[in-house]
Amino acid sequence: MLVRLLYASRARQPADEDLVDTIVATSIERNPPQGITGVLCYGNGVFLQALEGARAEVSALYHRIAQDPRHEDVVLLHYEEIAEREFAGWAMGLVDTCRINTATLLKYFPRAEFDPYRTSGRASLALLGELIAGNAVVARSAERPRY
Ligand code: FAD
Repeated sequence: MLVRLLYASRARQPADEDLVDTIVATSIERNPPQGITGVLCYGNGVFLQALEGARAEVSALYHRIAQDPRHEDVVLLHYEEIAEREFAGWAMGLVDTCRINTATLLKYFPRAEFDPYRTSGRASLALLGELIAGNAVVARSAERPRY
């Protein structure tokens, strides 16, 4: 059985490109053997990550990530059983938040700033879907967005 989980967290210190690259590189190495796919978004000091895969594997990874000292205020935004994956193409895609334009931010958040804490899990999930459709997800960590 497949599940999708979405959470938000705050970087303990402003995350630089190297930190985000390190996290994505770890994910790309470790997620495929576990059958995990997903996307990671970083902007405004906040991480938004979607994880998909078998329930036990997603649950175990979420608990490991939640204990990571590099971030805090980990909040579960959304969890559901799914018939199919939405992020099947990415061991861990990285979203370039700079490509999110003002109109898209206002569509999903109260203000024109990336802040998953201030909107519903469904809205954050819809944002990720829109970003994927708009090719804002970079598959390789070498294609660095600027923060
Ligand atoms: P080890 O590598 O043995 O590390 C031991 C401890 O140190 C752990 O608590 C770990 O969290 C911490 N740690 C590891 N590297 C550093 C570092 N550079 N600086 C400070 N502390 C460190 N991992 C995945 O496998 N898949 C993912 O999709 C994924 N997404 C993540 C998203 C976010 C926002 C963050 C912050 C981390 C993510 N990680 C992900 C990393 C994950 O939290 C673990 O660090 C990683 O899976 C290794 O786990 P481990 O138990 O083998 O820890």
